[in-house]
Amino acid sequence: MERRGWDGLDFLCVVGDAYVDHPTFGHAIVSRLLESLGFRVGVIAQPDWRCKDDFARMGRPCLAVLVAAGNLDSMLSNYSSPGHKRRVDVYSPGGRPGLRPDRATIVYCNRIRELWKETPIVIGGIEASLRRLAHYDFWSDAVRRSILVDSRADMLVYGMAESQLEEIACRLATGESIADMRDIPGTCWKTHDREAILTDEAIELPAFDRVSEDKRAFAEAFRIFYMEQNFANGRTLFQDNGSWFVVHNAPPRPLASDALDRIYALPFVRAPHPSYGGEKIPALAEVLFSITSHRGCFGECAFCAITSHQGRVIQQRSVKGIVEEAKILAAMPEFKGYIHDVGGPTANFRRPSCKKSLTDGPCRGKSCLFPKPCGSLQATHSAYLELLRTLRALPGIKKVFVRSGLRYDYIQADPDGAEFLEELCLHHVSGQLKIAPEHSHPAVLLRMRKAPRETTVNFIRAYRETNKRLGKDQFIVPYFMSSHPGCGLKEALDLALFIRDFAFRPEQVQDFAPTPGTAASCMYHTGLDPFTGEAVFVERTEEGRKMQRALLQYWMPENSELVARALKLLGGAHLLGKPMDNAVSK
Ligand code: SF4
Repeated sequence: MERRGWDGLDFLCVVGDAYVDHPTFGHAIVSRLLESLGFRVGVIAQPDWRCKDDFARMGRPCLAVLVAAGNLDSMLSNYSSPGHKRRVDVYSPGGRPGLRPDRATIVYCNRIRELWKETPIVIGGIEASLRRLAHYDFWSDAVRRSILVDSRADMLVYGMAESQLEEIACRLATGESIADMRDIPGTCWKTHDREAILTDEAIELPAFDRVSEDKRAFAEAFRIFYMEQNFANGRTLFQDNGSWFVVHNAPPRPLASDALDRIYALPFVRAPHPSYGGEKIPALAEVLFSITSHRGCFGECAFCAITSHQGRVIQQRSVKGIVEEAKILAAMPEFKGYIHDVGGPTANFRRPSCKKSLTDGPCRGKSCLFPKPCGSLQATHSAYLELLRTLRALPGIKKVFVRSGLRYDYIQADPDGAEFLEELCLHHVSGQLKIAPEHSHPAVLLRMRKAPRETTVNFIRAYRETNKRLGKDQFIVPYFMSSHPGCGLKEALDLALFIRDFAFRPEQVQDFAPTPGTAASCMYHTGLDPFTGEAVFVERTEEGRKMQRALLQYWMPENSELVARALKLLGGAHLLGKPMDNAVSK
């Protein structure tokens, strides 16, 4: 601040991640964006939350404090499951755990309020975004109020939030009070006064008190919330959260390519703050030579929060903008010629699902890919291929890999999907392609809102045949999930048989964790499918979850006891046959 001649800040960003100036870190985007608008911005990363000193270091900002827990929900960062602390925090220097508090957004806001009672506080990031209304919290096994109420912040921005923050910043700079900003899309605000929720179209969600007690009301609140996530026709929602009404404005319009290009062209130094003394931030290693080509996902997997956070409309950067970033990467001294990834939440969703989604927003009550591809879906990989071809032709670039997940049902829906698959295998797979079938049993796939089993089988065969034809020795690495709502032991056995029959040996299996804001979390809490109202089986016992998990890795000696117990309950040791000794997942 002294070097820049600043006697104070306009905005102070407080964040639970290490300070890394890279466009995959939310605080880096926010601070660089506000800086580009002429504001004086300071960042305090991972402050000691036990006292106020760290928060006060850069003084009281003139306009507002912006608070985020980091790139992950702080409970997910800190715990693998309730009561089990993680030993590594990939967003902290050296992967050290314990540098951010549980419920970081709330804790940081409390310290800031103790310091400065009147300074506006705006909360954002994935933790605030997914806890913006009354929500189920796995770690306390309870429904919690909106985080806007619990944090005592003035406003909440949800989603990626650049457009909201730009508008808030500019209006604060003109002297407008944050309390008067009630019309900004993509924000939540609060009021004691029901009359202040002006629009006639506003929909009242079942109140916090009700959704805490009544699971049907919770599922109904979730369904309405989900349906209204539409920038074109989403209505204002409001919910009584105790002494406050929380008002949820509709999402903002998706960012155009030039706006996204401007954001990703900000002068990020792509390194951790020098104060870490060269200590590595593990999450940075994953993304340092990767490029975000787009945001949004129309896949709508039930267990994924992207739908509620980034939305279903694809927002893509231009090829030109991405090439500029590739050139920056290629000029970095550590660059070895390999771009590790070019993608987004789903790598091959480079184009919007259909033209209508850009004008009217995604359909209410209808999905683009589930239970089968929509008749209006414009499945094409031409734009993605054009991008990949352009990048791999750039000087200094040896290889461009695709590591983000691909939706293979989308590949199969593309009439030229075989051509894409061939080019993918030829140029963009680094020995193994990760896919996420997640399950094999129809009843579970239905709850997960994933592609049917036959689609997975067809893709595995096509992938193996393509690689054989190309003379490539490349594997497929499938991700599977245990204990998702709808999955009992019988369904887990079905998946174990699928794994056996396709000769997979997954090294990792994800045990379902109900993170806030997803349809699957709603099913976990309520035992109801929020879209159909049907009852859904949920495995809640520790023993049952362990047996499901063990079945998916049935060949591991350490799982033999659990597998034997599961098979006995299911009707006999013969059910799984003899584990194959030399299975490979080519
Ligand atoms: S018309 Fe089909 S492809 Fe387009 S948004 Fe609706 S569901 Fe998706």
